[in-house]
Amino acid sequence: MKKKNILYLLGSGRSGTTLLATILNSTNDISTTGELHQFYTYLQNKSSCSCGALLNECKFWRLVVKDMDLSKDEIQNFQKRQNNEEGHRYIPSIILGRKASEDYILSQENLFNSIENHTTKKWVLDSSKYIGRFLLLKQMPSLKLKGIYVIRDVRGVINSFNKQVQTPRKPISTILYYILTNCFGQLVCWMNKDVIKVKYEDFIDNPHEHVQRIYNILLDQNHNDDALNDVFQMPHIIGGNRLKSSKTIKIKKDTAWKTTISRPKQILYYLLCLPFMLLNRYKL
Ligand SMILES: [Zn+2]
Repeated sequence: MKKKNILYLLGSGRSGTTLLATILNSTNDISTTGELHQFYTYLQNKSSCSCGALLNECKFWRLVVKDMDLSKDEIQNFQKRQNNEEGHRYIPSIILGRKASEDYILSQENLFNSIENHTTKKWVLDSSKYIGRFLLLKQMPSLKLKGIYVIRDVRGVINSFNKQVQTPRKPISTILYYILTNCFGQLVCWMNKDVIKVKYEDFIDNPHEHVQRIYNILLDQNHNDDALNDVFQMPHIIGGNRLKSSKTIKIKKDTAWKTTISRPKQILYYLLCLPFMLLNRYKL
């Protein structure tokens, strides 16, 4: 059987992954579906797609949901499997060889099969970011999995978590979370030739060049469009940040932290994440 092509975004939250995923969705061969680690939770809780409709009423997801034909018990069981196997606390045991359960594999094969039936593009983009999920999907022989590890200056991430979003975080908690997710993100990136790193700031400066790079290295093909647009249609996505309530989004560099965070704090946050700042050539 032909393998399913999955492109996966890794990294910490608030690193610009929703913007990156939306831009990639506007290209010829990539279809963005959002944070699929939340799919069964969305079904269970009757949450809405980014278009505002419930999953079983949304133009795209209702076809997928109908195709999957799941009972209430199956939804509940699959949701539980995801919660019990993908979380950050399971990353060490997965690295040490913990295998995905049969039900977990079934839940993901079901989902990806149905998504594939309703997209015409060659690659499905999952922007879950969870490293545990990436490692579990990597174990599945039916998937051809490639990763994009996104990193952003910790001060941009802190500022973004500080805004009124659905999951606000205090700076110190953001820093701990940032160190944890980027430790594993960087490790996975070093250990896998199928994972490339993209710096959020570089991507925003030159999205066209980075889309080319993603196509060349991960999709093993050229990106044929001459240039990218400035305005992008929001795809039907699960999860994601506040951008998703907009119908379209524009590429805009978010460097607000340079004015909203005081200079002493900027220096402190930088020093607390020093290895990542130096490794990724962020300036003080
Ligand atoms: Zn929708």
